[in-house]
Amino acid sequence: MGQMKTYKFDFRSDTVTRPSAGMRQAMAEAEVGDDVFGDDPTVRRLEMAMAKSLGKEDGLFVTSGTQSNLVALMAHCGRGEEYLVGQQAHCYRWEGGGAAVLGSIQPQPIENQPDGSIALSDIKAAIKPDDPHFAMTSLLALENTIGGKVLGMDYITAATSLARSEGLRCHLDGARAFNAVTALGLPISTLADPFDSVSICLSKGLGAPIGSVLVGEGAFIARGRRIRKMLGGGLRQVGILAAAGLYALEHNVDRLAEDHANARLLAEGLNTIDGLTAGLPDSNILFVDVAPEIASDLSTHLAEAGIGYTELYGKQRWVTHLDVGREAVETVLDLLFRWQAGR
Ligand SMILES: *Cc1c(COP(=O)(O)O)cnc(C)c1O
Repeated sequence: MGQMKTYKFDFRSDTVTRPSAGMRQAMAEAEVGDDVFGDDPTVRRLEMAMAKSLGKEDGLFVTSGTQSNLVALMAHCGRGEEYLVGQQAHCYRWEGGGAAVLGSIQPQPIENQPDGSIALSDIKAAIKPDDPHFAMTSLLALENTIGGKVLGMDYITAATSLARSEGLRCHLDGARAFNAVTALGLPISTLADPFDSVSICLSKGLGAPIGSVLVGEGAFIARGRRIRKMLGGGLRQVGILAAAGLYALEHNVDRLAEDHANARLLAEGLNTIDGLTAGLPDSNILFVDVAPEIASDLSTHLAEAGIGYTELYGKQRWVTHLDVGREAVETVLDLLFRWQAGR
């Protein structure tokens, strides 16, 4: 790893949020027990609260979104089975190949469309017939939001209906599903309904320091609990972390709309700078094309000012979250306007 950097305004990701004073107090006061024994009441409260809000039977608290997706893939697919997944999807591209390495599950990656969806015709074409030459196609995995883009309910209904009609189950990597429903103006249960399982990250825009919750039907979660233990994810007095998740559900869901508004404000402002072209964001993530003639000057200026963003796919990626509010966006834009005027 490189040297640790500190930022005045950190737009690199919504994972950089730090637990607030209120969240820390909830953590300190949490009632705990040994969760491997099933004795931690705060963990059970979080698991059931998430399951209930998504309209599912049961939930499982896991250490990370990566572990959550892996548990889900392993609970859905046996050895030698395969899942259909977007080429850009986190649970194909960004999880170290875990499903193949640890689950003996074959991914069938499919090119994502520019809007983040997987074309229905591509899904259909990728489903293998029942023939010993082929891995058995068992699962369709979608992601929402994906790269900050929101998949709409019409598409999700069509894709999951197609999968189901071919005998597949459906998993949603909903690391940022609360961002998706904030943008869609729907209850989270509506988005979750067509899926057998959904994974939700607490440590992104919801502002908790750690954790994801996987939800689904009871027998699926029971299988998942066994797999979580096998993966080393059985934890003990972990109610102190679940308490942060419960606090996040109570305090940090409704405010996601602010992050989306701030991302839009940032995009609109960046678009007024010569040489910058920002796509208007669906949610809290925006990508910016930078003209080559300003790229080096700009990155030096931003670095010196302590402003963090990431470089991804040849673009700048900026993510808004609860630690960079409207004031931070206005400060950054003001700084860039002055930089432009001084050039
Ligand atoms: C961040 C993320 C994950 C993984 O979460 P970690 O907690 O970082 O392992 C999974 N899926 C998506 C879409 C994500 O953005």
